[in-house]
This record gives sequence, structure tokens and C-alpha cells, in this order.
Amino acid sequence: MFITARKLPEELLHYYALQRRSALGAKNHDKLRRLERGVEGERVYDMILNEAGHENLYIFRDLYLLIEGSVTQYDTLIVSESGIIVNEIKNFTGDYQVEASMWTRSGGATLPDDPMSQLRRAVGKLMNLQRGAGFKFEVSGKLIFPNESFRLFTKDDQVWNQVVLRADFKRYFNGFYNEYSGEGASKLADIIERHIVPNPYFKHRVDFESVRHGLYCGGCGSFQLEKQQFHLLCMTCGSRESNETHLVRAMSDFKYLFGDLAMTSRRLMEFTGNAVNVRTLQRVLNKYCYVKGVYKTSNYIFKYFDFDEAMRKEQQTRKYKDYLS
Ligand SMILES: [Zn+2]
Repeated sequence: MFITARKLPEELLHYYALQRRSALGAKNHDKLRRLERGVEGERVYDMILNEAGHENLYIFRDLYLLIEGSVTQYDTLIVSESGIIVNEIKNFTGDYQVEASMWTRSGGATLPDDPMSQLRRAVGKLMNLQRGAGFKFEVSGKLIFPNESFRLFTKDDQVWNQVVLRADFKRYFNGFYNEYSGEGASKLADIIERHIVPNPYFKHRVDFESVRHGLYCGGCGSFQLEKQQFHLLCMTCGSRESNETHLVRAMSDFKYLFGDLAMTSRRLMEFTGNAVNVRTLQRVLNKYCYVKGVYKTSNYIFKYFDFDEAMRKEQQTRKYKDYLS
């Protein structure tokens, strides 16, 4: 069973917000595409794992663990009575050669950090958890390649023992069929949960003034919106979204664009281009944010991971529907 949800990388949410509100530039666009490829790979992995079934396992996805003073990111951890298995998902495309620990893309460059060493470090970190746990458990890992176009060429059996290619996913996941999660697995899951921390590496920020202010259509991205009583109508594609939806999108953008810049009601008003009246803005802020500080200088902290999560969780409490074309 899935213990943690797979969320979009914060970096990707930053670039999505930035893309809407400024020209991204070739370099940032490449980064965005690379992040999207990673997400696509994880989706393929989750889909096939779902088909195979995982009710007998604890599955942690997309998490950062603080172990002995340093933080490591994990794509997926599979926990059962036998221990922990790290699955590092690499959505590589094309042909790769591995020779003497060097991973080289055919006709391209050698990877600066070879995936096998990455995996070894990730596994090693989890082994250190044993010290605090007071009992022994197994930790192992696999490199998972979900892209069908990926081909691996190597004579190194050690590498072959650690990789799972797309064609072998089903067989690999079916191998967990006889695993079970009893008391040991439950204890292990508790230990992992205790070490989860927020992503400390997300540091992307832009200046408040450097991006376009205003609200944009969730359907087509256009800023050409016409005010209606409870909605904003897109003049480009005809989508109609509630004021609330628009403000939630703006709050999520704010979170991913400006780092620790305080979101005051005044600043959010400016950011949204004064598109809605102050009472509506205040009501939505109170609903979707935690408040820090006192009236007028209050800093609002968005309660949700991102726009999508807020929309999903508040589905029942929203009065006005959205009509996307
Ligand atoms: Zn539109």
C-alpha cells in the first residue's frame, strides 16, 4: 500500500509558475523538460506496480530522509518483513554503455555521477538507520529504467544484478508476491516516517517584480480575463473559473516563485493585479492559509502542497464550479 503520495517536484512547480509569468529561456526550459521526463518515468513505474498489486507492502514515494546529519532523496522505498528495498527510477532514453563504473550515453557524454554509486550511497544511508533502530534488517536496491527506448550495454554482471529494465517490470514486481508486512515491517515503516523531512534543496527564487502579475486562465494560460460576479471568463478560450480557483492558483504560484517572501494580503492583492475585491481575497486567504503575525502585517502560509492538492482536498467546500474549455 502507498504510504506517501507521489508529488510533483518543487523545482518543476517553480518552472511551471515561472513559465506562465515570464519567458523561461532555453536553459530553464531544458530543466523543465528533464524534470517532466522524471515524472513520466515515475508514473510508468507506479502504474505497473499498481497492476501487480502491493497491498502486502509499505511503499514510500518521493521522500527526503534526514539520517545522521545529511538528507537523502528517495524515489521509492519498498518495505516488507524482509527489509527495505530502494528503487531509484531513472527515465533514461537511448543507448548507454557501462565500463569500469563509467556510464556513457552513446554518442554523448559520460554521466558525472554514475547511477550505481548513487544507489550504493542511498542504500548505505538506510543501513545507518539500524544503529538507532536496535534491530537488524536488510537493505538492498535496484536501478529502475521505465523507458522502453533505454538500452544498456555492459559486460559487468554487477550492473546487471542491480538494474530492472522496462520489459522486466512485471516479473520484478511479481517477485514481491510472497512478501508480507508484519510487525517487523511496521516497525521499519515507523522508523522511516520518523526521519522524513521537507526537501531542503529547493532554493529557487525570483524577484517579486520580475514576473508578470495578474491572473491567468487554467485552460490556456491567457491573462485576458473578464470579470463576472463569481467567476472570471477567459476571452481567449472561453473557460470560466471561480474567483476562488484563481486565487488558489495565485497562492500556489506565490509559494513556488518567491521562496520565503512574506505573502501578506496586500502583496497577494498586487500579485493578482487587483482582479478580485479585497473581501473575497481575505476570505480565500483565511480558508487556504495558516496565519502568522497580526492583522495587516499578517503573513499567510499556504496550507497545501500545491494548487492541485488544494483543489482536490477542498472540492466539497467550494461553492462555485469551474468550466474549462
Ligand atoms: Zn483560456
